[in-house]
Amino acid sequence: MNPRVIRTAASRVKLISPTGRKTTRIGAIPVFEEGLYEIAQDTYAWLVPNGSWGETNLGLVRCGDKTMLIDTCWDLHHTRDMLEHADAVLKEAPIHGVINTHADGDHCWGNQLFNGLPIYSTKACADQIHHHKPAQLSALKWSSKLFSCVPANGVDALGRYMGDMLRPYRFSGIKVVGASQTFSGQMSMDVGGVAFKLHEVGPGHTNGDCVVHVPDRRVVFTGDILFVGVTPVAWAGPVANITKALRQIQAMDVDVIVPGHGPLATLADVQSQIDYWDWLHSELAPLAAQGVNVDDAARRCLESKAFRRAPFAKWLAPERLFTSACTLYREWGLETAKYSGPIGQLDHFRRQALLQPSS
Ligand SMILES: [Zn+2]
Repeated sequence: MNPRVIRTAASRVKLISPTGRKTTRIGAIPVFEEGLYEIAQDTYAWLVPNGSWGETNLGLVRCGDKTMLIDTCWDLHHTRDMLEHADAVLKEAPIHGVINTHADGDHCWGNQLFNGLPIYSTKACADQIHHHKPAQLSALKWSSKLFSCVPANGVDALGRYMGDMLRPYRFSGIKVVGASQTFSGQMSMDVGGVAFKLHEVGPGHTNGDCVVHVPDRRVVFTGDILFVGVTPVAWAGPVANITKALRQIQAMDVDVIVPGHGPLATLADVQSQIDYWDWLHSELAPLAAQGVNVDDAARRCLESKAFRRAPFAKWLAPERLFTSACTLYREWGLETAKYSGPIGQLDHFRRQALLQPSS
């Protein structure tokens, strides 16, 4: 097993059901093996290399004769694939309920496979879950081929960017199913004698982020408050809520930290994410104060010596800095978008695509 995955305080992390795939979903060389890992007693993580778009980690916590699932995949196909690999666990302890850490489709668009079971999330997550529609992503997936043939104004870069992001996923037939039970702030529950502590830490990455702490198993599932080896992103902000949540995670008495994307996290990985957010804030604030527009400011950050020397320069998808820069600019009362609605979203990704290292 790749040592990168087991670099954690837990001694018992073990890959119990590998997929054996030799490339990632987007065709990269995996930096760790894909599959179901036992991370604590009766506690599992579905880890997907390398943690890029849609390569989402899930959690399964067996509680006697039932299992709680933390998050689902971006589509039904990949969610079913996970269920098949977890069959040895699930045939003895079927899924009893689902906890969604947040409303991004790559964490909840498999919910319909568990329709009728209790699904838990923050109220803010449930309110946001229908904002994005699978049919829109289906249309975008197909139109990205067309866009990639338009060599003007970065439309071709947008086409390649969205095409690479969406190609592995099948968005047709997905019905978005929201939570049946919501909470705000904190929620504790007991499932078969196992305590779950759900902490609302958003808005930050999205409107309604929560982290799931299972104290008996000394494990925390962070959702997308934490990425490892992948550039984090603040869609919603405020960014300060993300760093606050990361400090809460650092203070938890756990052995295993399962990030939303990437390999299992060490405390140093959590600190690296805090450092990233602190660095981004300190680089951007003076540029914003000088009236530099957000596109130029993001580019200057990515091209700076400080960035290139920093460990986060090696993280996947550095261009996501653009989204977080827009969020910070909005926090500072500055305009970032010329267009609104779906055109505004496409334009946002076009501008982000132009900041990819290869473009
Ligand atoms: Zn995600």
